[in-house]
Amino acid sequence: MREQDDALEFMKIGSGTIYSGAFSSIFIGCLLLSYSIQTSADTLKGIRMYNHPSHTRVVLDVSELPSYEVFVLSNPERVVVDLEKIEVVTGFEGPAVDPSGIRVKGFRSARRGENYRVVLDLAEPVSTRSFTLAPVAPYGYRLVIDLRPSLIPPKKPQPGLERNNRRDVVIAIDAGHGGEDPGAVGPKIGKSRVLEKNVVLNISRKLGDKLERAKGYKSILTRQGDYYVPLRKRVEISRQARADIFISIHADAFRNSSVSGASVYTLSEQGASSENARWLAEKENRSDLIGGVGEVSLEDKDDALAHLLLDLSMDANRSASIKLGHKLLERLSHVGKIHKRGLEQAGFAVLKAPDVPSVLVETGYISNPNEARRLSSSKYQDQVSSALFEGIKLYMEEHAPPGTWIAWKREQEGIRYVVVSGDTISEIALRYGTTVQRIKKANDFNSDFLRVGQTILIPSS
Ligand SMILES: [Zn+2]
Repeated sequence: MREQDDALEFMKIGSGTIYSGAFSSIFIGCLLLSYSIQTSADTLKGIRMYNHPSHTRVVLDVSELPSYEVFVLSNPERVVVDLEKIEVVTGFEGPAVDPSGIRVKGFRSARRGENYRVVLDLAEPVSTRSFTLAPVAPYGYRLVIDLRPSLIPPKKPQPGLERNNRRDVVIAIDAGHGGEDPGAVGPKIGKSRVLEKNVVLNISRKLGDKLERAKGYKSILTRQGDYYVPLRKRVEISRQARADIFISIHADAFRNSSVSGASVYTLSEQGASSENARWLAEKENRSDLIGGVGEVSLEDKDDALAHLLLDLSMDANRSASIKLGHKLLERLSHVGKIHKRGLEQAGFAVLKAPDVPSVLVETGYISNPNEARRLSSSKYQDQVSSALFEGIKLYMEEHAPPGTWIAWKREQEGIRYVVVSGDTISEIALRYGTTVQRIKKANDFNSDFLRVGQTILIPSS
């Protein structure tokens, strides 16, 4: 249940959720510590509000970091902040609400037992990101909630305008090796030997073409011809292009020539943690480091906090990479043999971007004579690139970042929800502000029976 909520939240507001959840758990440690030193109760002292062009920042000043929960409700649109076990300073007032051109139009608060609830009434739907800040003069502990306009589209989109402000997702395609580095060298077919660098460049180009033709997608190739690009440079190229995902394509050799089949790799945990250390060592990386994840800069953070933030980013990124890897592997299994059923993990340097989900696809083994023959044929290269394209689409249908045309399209169609134990259609309908009839119609259901793990479409209202 909890996981499903997270998944839906993730779809709507991206990785910010991971921050808020994780942030609150990070600070539980601090909370316990401070309880042992101080005996006075945590107190909400005031609320401030800042209007940026892109978002509204709400800051709650507290004497200690509370356990809290932030959630969004609609009809009418509002954000609720529940603070646990907190007192309120005498004479407490809400923030001054400036009614002109901002997202928050009103403010309410009330005590609920030991807890305190703050409600922000909104002029438009928002997504939220929350985190806590340690004292910095003149401020003490703060709970920060950023409100950004959410992607929920207007009821009647104007034709022709739909794509204007919605970007394409960017797929970085990394053809392995190149130039002086031929990669794996296969048997002679025709006049020359099959070289990995040529096979993977062809597959990469075909994949790039398919993506360019698909609405909502853009591709960049980390190498466009037969030349070598250092591994770190490949990662850098994709980060500079603000790639949403990175796919490195290979076709390697194995000492046993009977080994065949495709495999998909993601970064191993060990690879991720050693990379974390390296990134932190290079201070110049800090300012733009988590730009792709939560717009959190590491520049002004001390080492311990920077380390923690980077860990969170790496974790989120690893789990996104795994999801992507599964989709690719699933599609590749329809084209040919799969070397191993599951994803594999390794410390490959090209997979080490901390904020771009990255996978490495071994399309097959050039050391296997039959596979080398297949891999060198244009037809098979086309099939492999189609499978990768389909896998990317499957992934993006669920995980396209907010602000992209694909995410917008998905919102228009509704939300995809995975049924968990105990769910009923009527309860789901209630939760999403729709009706049993509409859900049944959207999914072509004849009965009320739901299967755990089944994905259902919740039509947008
Ligand atoms: Zn290779």
